[in-house]
This record gives sequence, C-alpha cells and structure tokens, in this order.
Amino acid sequence: MTPESEAAAPAAQPIHPRLRVSAGTAAAIGLDRLKVECLPTTAYLMTGERCDRNCGFCPQARESGARADLLSRVTWPDADPERVVEAIASSYDQAGRGGEGVKRVCLQVVHDRSSLPGTLEAVRRIRSRSAVPICVSVFLNDPDLVAALFEAGADRVTMPIDAVGEEIHRKIKGGGFATALKRVEEAAGRWPGRIGTHLIVGLGETEEEMVRLIGRLTGLSVTIGLFAFTPVRGTALAAANPPDLASYRRVQACNWLLGRHLIDLEAIRFADGRVAGFGLPAATIRELLASGEAFQTAGCPDCNRPYYNERPGGVMYNYPRPLTSEEAAAAIDLVLSAAPGE
Ligand code: SF4
Repeated sequence: MTPESEAAAPAAQPIHPRLRVSAGTAAAIGLDRLKVECLPTTAYLMTGERCDRNCGFCPQARESGARADLLSRVTWPDADPERVVEAIASSYDQAGRGGEGVKRVCLQVVHDRSSLPGTLEAVRRIRSRSAVPICVSVFLNDPDLVAALFEAGADRVTMPIDAVGEEIHRKIKGGGFATALKRVEEAAGRWPGRIGTHLIVGLGETEEEMVRLIGRLTGLSVTIGLFAFTPVRGTALAAANPPDLASYRRVQACNWLLGRHLIDLEAIRFADGRVAGFGLPAATIRELLASGEAFQTAGCPDCNRPYYNERPGGVMYNYPRPLTSEEAAAAIDLVLSAAPGE
C-alpha cells in the first residue's frame, strides 16, 4: 500500500510552458553551438507570453508588431525547461571550478496573467538544483509577490522603472513614475541590498533628471541596471534615436562614481540639464575612471548582457567585458568633453 505521506505528496507542478533562453545564453550553457564574440556571464531566461502592458520601447509590448522572440535586440528561442535547469546547474558548477560558465541567472518576466506562477516554479526548480544566484526582473505592484519570489529562492528582485520623469513615463509606459519609484523605494527599505531597477537613458529625460534619480536610488542601495535606449523595428519607438554617446558616458560615469560613493550628488554641477562638472579636478576624474569599469554593463553582479544595446562591431554603449586601455581613455575623453573638471 502506498504510504500516506507519499500518496499525499503534491504532484510536481510544470514550469510555465514558455521558458525561453536568450540565444547567447543557450551557447553559454551548452544548449547551442552558436559562435559569439562575447558570451553572457549570466543566464538570461524569459517567462510569460505576450505582455499585457504596452511599453513603447519593448518588442514584447501588447501592441508591438516586432518579432515575438525579441527582447531589446536579443532573440529568445524556446527551450525545454528541464534541460535548461540542468544545463544552468552544470554551467554554474563549471564556473565555480574556474572554468567558463554562468555565475547568475536572470529571469525576465513578460507581464501576463500566467507568468508569475510559472516564474515562481522556475525559481524553485533552479534553486532545488543549484546555489546559483537568481534575480527576477518583473513588474509587480504587490510587495507580497516580491516576498514570494524571495521565498522561492530568488536573491534579488529588479523592479524596472525604465522611463524617467512623470510625463515621459506616462507616455511611454502608460503608468505613473512617482508610483513606480515609490514601489522601488518601499521594497528597498524592506529588503535592503536586494532590490534593483532598470533605467533607460535616451527616452527624452535630461542627464540631470537621470543622474538625480540615480543618486537618490544608490543612496538606498538600489542596484541600477543602466540601458541605452535601442530602437527596435515594429515597436512604437522604432523611429526614435538612441542617446548621444557622450551623454551616455557621462551618465555611466555618474552611476559608477555615485554607486561607489566616490562623488556626492550635491557636488555634481549641471548646466542646461547636462552634467557640467563632478566637483573634482579632471585629473582626479581620469584617475578614478581609468579602469574603464564605469563603461561596462551595470547592474547585478556578473550581469554583462552582451548585445542588448549594441550591434556586434557597432557603438558599445555597455561593454560586456573589461575595456582595453585605449577604449577606456576614449570613453573618459567623452566624459570630460562636456564636464572638464573643476
Ligand atoms: S541588472 Fe542584469 S541580471 Fe540584474 S535584473 Fe537586470 S538584466 Fe537581470
């Protein structure tokens, strides 16, 4: 006779039928032989179907006419969930032994009715097989759902603000900026050091608005994933331009310097909405930024997001790898071109 405990054991719930992996991730965890210039150091997965929100920049948006397998510039083919979980576990082990492999998992949740149960189940399954750090990037308006993700085994939850400024946010994302910010700040207070957000540079905000928000959020230990707006065919913003590179470099410099408490927000000087000085001599800024790390992908530890914002061989908004000394010098020159130091 079947013991009662066995008979009562709940059947394993299926992972959401759509678990997608970014093309680079499939290569990084050994599910595909795709040759790429730079492999992701985080496994990027996507859960959910077509989004029920309508962000103007996003190929997954409700009214987007973009290819359904895109998020930003990246393609996300379907994959067998069990194979993905096993491949991530062994890739993470391999990285732990000093080999090539992923050091984090990032679940990007497309917002639809069924995506959250599937995401929770995916987090539990990955956690049951591996100690790999897991972050979940998701739109949530209920703190209990954030708590549920942590209970399931996520290390971090990223609540994307994306568009900065009330009017811009409303026009592009269809919701309130102040509300989105409040949610992030409240979560950061409740789970210190475990909350992140995404900010997209180039949606019409000024450098000053972006940098002031970065200063406010880094002061609350919110991790900031910085993105350059990338027009994608089929989206509402397909015809808009990406940000000016010098402007993006200044924001990256501020994000990195503020995040490490190397400058004060109050010391940054703005003129006509642009960063005009850091309150430090140019030589000091050059020295602080010399490693080039400020211009690498910013966000959770080990997140490098190759080619989210870049075409291979095109303008590198976010370097997915350490910069050469020449690349770092060129980036710093751009920073100092409009903010030449005090
Ligand atoms: S910063 Fe990177 S790893 Fe963290 S949620 Fe964003 S995309 Fe994922």
